[in-house]
Amino acid sequence: MPERLETQSRRLLRRLRDTLAEPGRGQERLNRITHLISESMHTDVCSIYLFRDADTLELCATRGLKADAVHLTRLRMGEGLVGRVARSAKPVNTADAPGERGFRYMPETGEEVFSSFLGVPVQRLGEKLGVLVVQSRDKRLYSEDEVYALEVVAMVLAEMTELGAFIGDDATLAHPHKNPVMIRGTSGQEGTAEGQVWLHEPRVVVTNLVNDDPVAEVERLRAAVNQLRVSVDDLLTLAGPTEKEHREVLEVYRMFAHSRGWLRRMEQSIESGLSAEAAVEKEQSGARSRLQQVPDPYLRDRLHDLDDLSNRLLRILTGQGSETGAAIPENPILVARNIGPGELLEYGPRLRGVVLEEGSIGSHAAVVARALTIPLVVHAGRITTEALNGDPIIVDGDDGVVHLRPDDSVAVAFRDKIAMQAQAQARFAALRERAATARCGTTVGLHMNAGIMADLPSLAGSGAEGVGLFRTELQFLLRNTMPRRSDLAALYARVMAAADGRRVAFRTLDIGSDKVMPYMKRPDEPNPAMGWRALRVGLDKTGVMRMQLQALIRAARGRPLTVMFPLVSEMGEFSAARDMLLREIEREAHLGHPLPEKLEIGAMLETPSLAFAPDAFFKMADFISIGGNDLKQFFFAADRENELVRRRYDTLSFSFLSLIQKLVERCAEADTPVAFCGEDAGRPLEALALVAVGLRNLSMRPASIGPVKDLIIRSDIAEVKAAIEAAQHRGQEQLRPVLMDYVRQLAPV
Ligand code: PEP
Ligand code: MG
Repeated sequence: MPERLETQSRRLLRRLRDTLAEPGRGQERLNRITHLISESMHTDVCSIYLFRDADTLELCATRGLKADAVHLTRLRMGEGLVGRVARSAKPVNTADAPGERGFRYMPETGEEVFSSFLGVPVQRLGEKLGVLVVQSRDKRLYSEDEVYALEVVAMVLAEMTELGAFIGDDATLAHPHKNPVMIRGTSGQEGTAEGQVWLHEPRVVVTNLVNDDPVAEVERLRAAVNQLRVSVDDLLTLAGPTEKEHREVLEVYRMFAHSRGWLRRMEQSIESGLSAEAAVEKEQSGARSRLQQVPDPYLRDRLHDLDDLSNRLLRILTGQGSETGAAIPENPILVARNIGPGELLEYGPRLRGVVLEEGSIGSHAAVVARALTIPLVVHAGRITTEALNGDPIIVDGDDGVVHLRPDDSVAVAFRDKIAMQAQAQARFAALRERAATARCGTTVGLHMNAGIMADLPSLAGSGAEGVGLFRTELQFLLRNTMPRRSDLAALYARVMAAADGRRVAFRTLDIGSDKVMPYMKRPDEPNPAMGWRALRVGLDKTGVMRMQLQALIRAARGRPLTVMFPLVSEMGEFSAARDMLLREIEREAHLGHPLPEKLEIGAMLETPSLAFAPDAFFKMADFISIGGNDLKQFFFAADRENELVRRRYDTLSFSFLSLIQKLVERCAEADTPVAFCGEDAGRPLEALALVAVGLRNLSMRPASIGPVKDLIIRSDIAEVKAAIEAAQHRGQEQLRPVLMDYVRQLAPV
């Protein structure tokens, strides 16, 4: 950058800073800033447009355009040149604005006399705040240095906006983190909660934006970057000989930390007057806005790495750790871009809710949130930029909606909903000791699904008869190395002890598909849900399965043991797995170890093929547990994780219920007990239908036991069965309306 411009830019930034220090209202400050910029850049016009809502920009201050147009002229995102800057988050620089494609003439501004136009986005960490524009009468293209200088000024403006420098009476100038915001995401775990934001990674607050001594500031930046590089190198050494893919990712991360271009751009910003912190944020903002435009997931991940590095660098420069010293709020709702399952477990049950900007319903974090029964919303766009520590927040995990800083009407309506739910909870708690016996006398066994030790206390609290499904994969997923047999045996023994004589059905490792163990090599699969997963892995990699079976046998030591194998697709697979378990029992007997008092070996029926297995299969299995989540996805050929198709097909349909009915009949013929343990078992209406088609044992999340029991007790199963059969007889495909009609006319307990 030429010397003259550089000092000019520095002088301008310093004057901006002084403006911020002077007393004054938001509007006055904005006016003064437009004057300062147009004067020092020798332009005829300088205007500031700020977002009024997500889609509308408003002219908020100007020097050079008609003053009457202020707070009057508005543009939509993408409209005119200003709207184009906002949408693309890139500068527009033209010598002939009226001749430019998309130019929109706004007579109230009197801008027709100005030919040249330069607009740059005002954005902070990817959040679009507005557009800064300079215009001149003469037909000239602004130089690269001028564009850069205006970007630097826009950066400071964005920071000042964030710090509340332009707060005024006018709504446009309201504090960016004061307005209520409603964010629509996706439900990861049902339930509702009200509390205060607890940021997993609190934002670094930068207050010094401008430097007085660029040489010293560059030194400070270089020292911080060196420290960052050392810490990243350490990370790589610590990672040790990991998998090639994992290492490659770390290497790219390291490459970013050592990137000369990155450092050069930040140094350039410091030379034009920004502080080291502001220079880092300017780079970070650019990366964030690129991130929003990159569709390729690999590139997005890499840009995230860059974002992460910038955060680390900011923490080094400001001395702010992720521990800000702020006390954990009373009802903490964790807000994060993403979170690992281990980190989430560390926060534990004290959290009231979790909101993730990314995440997915199938992620391990979601599995943990479900195990902890904490309401979870994923895909909550912009939440980490909008939320500040301590902000009031409402999480509606039922609808996948988040209300940040809700206004009174929203909060009141929500509290009503929570109060109604609490009343219902009290009603359910009163049913705890009662059996789930319907009016007609049919009794249904209600069991719970579990996956971690923390689930077990719910066994007593929920009134569950036992654990119908214990998912064993979490212990494998939450660690960086394969768990040892002795650790697993100790854990399984603790689970059995906590169950206190009640039956626990341990499902052997169900990995693959979305559940990936970082330490086990896996092939790249085109369709992992239908790929090498669950029992298929167990039968091919017998070492892991045998180790787990041994751990289970050793944990039982004289107690009954119940084992079931996931995703059995053929009788042969089941008998092979069963033989493997029986061989392990024999081996343990040889070693003189105590054996289980009783052994039950079951199969999870999760593929339509197994419903058509030979009779011998149904006789061989000690019991069958229908894994409705997988069975439904394969039955309808609709991916259970894919939002586009996930809800398209209803459990309460002629075809699916007919399948379940058929299965119940086949099990009855073989005299084999059958249960249902997919998510549908925990939905009252679905549970009622499953009972009506013949199921007598259901396993579900502990929180669902109350609502399901409540409905069963109020119903007459013979009546429900008759209603379903009548509709089936009529050839009606969708049976939900029939069940809803039935439930509506029921009396409360
Ligand atoms: C199922 O598929 O219904 C099931 C219970 O197993 P998971 O959800 O763990 O795949
Ligand atoms: Mg399954």
